[in-house]
Amino acid sequence: KKSVLLEGDQMIANGNVDVGKVQPSHQLDKLREERKTLPIYAFRERLLQDVEKNQVLIIVGETGSGKTTQIPQYLHEAGYTKGGKKIGCTQPRRIAAMSVAARVSQEMGVKLGHAVGYSIRFEDCTSEKTVLKYMTDGMLLREFLVEPDLASYSVVMVDEAHERTLSTDVLLGLLKDIARYRPDLKLIISSATLDAEKFSDFFDSAKILRIPGRRYPVDIHYMEAPQADYLDAAIVAALQVHVTQPPGDILVFLTGQEEIETAEEIFKHRTRGLGTKISELIICPIYANLPTELQAKIFEPTPEGARKVVLATNIAETSLTIDGIKYVIDPGFSKMKSYNPRSGMESLQVTPISKASSMQRAGRAGRTGHGKCFRLYTSYNYDSDLDDSTVPEVQRTNLANVVLTLKSLGIHDLVNFEFMDPPPCEALLKALELLFALGALNKVGELTKVGRRMAEFPVDPMLSKMIVASDKYKCSDEVISIAAMLSTGSSIFYRPKDKQVHADTARLRFHSGNVGDHIALLKVYNAWKEANYSTQWCYENYIQVRSMKRARDIRDQLERLLERVEIKLSSSNDLEAIKKAVTSGFFPHCSRLQKNGSYRTIKHPHTAHIHPSSGIMALEHHVLPRCVLYHELVLTTKEYMRQVTEIKPEWLVEIAPHYYQLNGVVEEDYSTSKKMPRGKGRTSTSKQIPNLVDYSICV
Ligand code: ADP
Ligand code: MG
Repeated sequence: KKSVLLEGDQMIANGNVDVGKVQPSHQLDKLREERKTLPIYAFRERLLQDVEKNQVLIIVGETGSGKTTQIPQYLHEAGYTKGGKKIGCTQPRRIAAMSVAARVSQEMGVKLGHAVGYSIRFEDCTSEKTVLKYMTDGMLLREFLVEPDLASYSVVMVDEAHERTLSTDVLLGLLKDIARYRPDLKLIISSATLDAEKFSDFFDSAKILRIPGRRYPVDIHYMEAPQADYLDAAIVAALQVHVTQPPGDILVFLTGQEEIETAEEIFKHRTRGLGTKISELIICPIYANLPTELQAKIFEPTPEGARKVVLATNIAETSLTIDGIKYVIDPGFSKMKSYNPRSGMESLQVTPISKASSMQRAGRAGRTGHGKCFRLYTSYNYDSDLDDSTVPEVQRTNLANVVLTLKSLGIHDLVNFEFMDPPPCEALLKALELLFALGALNKVGELTKVGRRMAEFPVDPMLSKMIVASDKYKCSDEVISIAAMLSTGSSIFYRPKDKQVHADTARLRFHSGNVGDHIALLKVYNAWKEANYSTQWCYENYIQVRSMKRARDIRDQLERLLERVEIKLSSSNDLEAIKKAVTSGFFPHCSRLQKNGSYRTIKHPHTAHIHPSSGIMALEHHVLPRCVLYHELVLTTKEYMRQVTEIKPEWLVEIAPHYYQLNGVVEEDYSTSKKMPRGKGRTSTSKQIPNLVDYSICV
């Protein structure tokens, strides 16, 4: 009797799945052998039995044991995709979804996008034939909107559940719910950490399968004193490893793209002076926006005699496994979202990691042999400053997007939604308040027509409101270009260190007339389009080609979605109309100039500054505008507003009268109802209308 495994192997060999690709058969053989060496391989039968017997299975296994790449394949081989049903596997990060899908398609000898595909926001690489679908957790969440029972799936695997991203947490709640009336749906929750009981408890004592990983000892080295500049310390440590330690690749954890690019430059500069006696150091960056062509590079085996240094964000903590790492350098930081529900301020900050994270990071050094981890902090820091584990995202983020999605799914009772860890009530209220202000919900919290349209767009509510509002101002064409440019996730302008002056001059051209950053982005997009989307044009104008291509893809999608919500594509060159459409979505993000040159956000008074990268600051004799709208706040050395446009104060009252009112109006209202406004009675200034000082808030 043939084992299931043999059948599986034959399936691959016979090309039972769509073979459209290039993978020569000897390489397929090699990959097949490699698959058998993974720790999970020995558990294949157990796993398939457990899945068959249980609707929900929790799987715990060390990073690199083969969970992500193998489990969906095993299930496919065992027949879970018969009749065209899909196996979905979610990832918190888009680059992990892409990279793993690419790997699995290679292992199966099929072309990516056919039997194996991936789906991430603004990029769908799947087809009718796709049966193994890797996707971000956020994308599966959106699939609920079109297929509330996920009928086309036979199995959903929520991978990297320990990351506890907002989307993963919401998914867990939704999946638990649909599992009740879809007994045929199998759920697999997989995690790299050992706190599986919590997941098991959440799914009514679901069975846990533990896959013991291969793990070699890792020596942990601490610093004797705290480091002032962790980036520099990390580079020094890596170079020291390179010149003093035996072969083995190095993994350095940094916090983001910019930092990684800086580190890359410094590495290149410093290794130049090392001379020929020192072996070659290959630098491999990896971060969310790394272009696909370069992603594969980190997985290429290091040539004999050379050493690889991988500069990675948190992504290499558990999402991606890079073979051959022997040394880990852990500065102890990552970029984390934080949210203050009281003020509604969300910001991305470089934050100390948790003990759990630092354990994961160290673990990356011990996959192939005895490894070393250099922690760039003291053991005292570790013991007393690091939290045990990271706070789940649901408890430190703006929930507006999720609340809108849940409302669109018909889930009204958010307080009783089953969250593994519930969000703070204050944050839920804030989200409801914002959605109400944007007109997405009515007074009793029901989805409005505007809200339903907004939910169609895979962007944050303020952006989707801006798009929906563009209909009224007859400028949807321009507004989706702006929305796309704001959604690329990477910078548009290129500013190389040795050509800053040229780059700045080029950039100023798009700011002529002091139009503000939003319109400048539109001008860039339009000029590029005019130049037939030329790459050469980008070089000449110091524009990032990659960001532009991404903006075009996003824009195409937004254009298709416009049609879905029956908004006509209309074009206008009335800049005021365009800015008003932007204001319709972003009126909660407005601030006014203070005497000392800083800004104060209007709604929840909070000091902020215009980011130096803003075109407003670039003009030679710039005058700070009195009232501005901003896209986002970032916290670096100061609290900065990024993507800033001047607006007229009176627009706020015109566009969002329920949100902003003239002080006088507020007082009149209250006086007629014989109630005093709480703590606000600035009668003396109310005569200087329409000076913004006179606007106060009344919701
Ligand atoms: P887990 O999900 O348990 O962390 P994976 O299934 O991601 O493990 O990885 C199993 C193996 O597959 C690892 O040894 C890794 O090196 C390899 N692998 C995964 N993704 C890729 C890729 N994109 N390119 C090359 N090898 C990969
Ligand atoms: Mg994995």
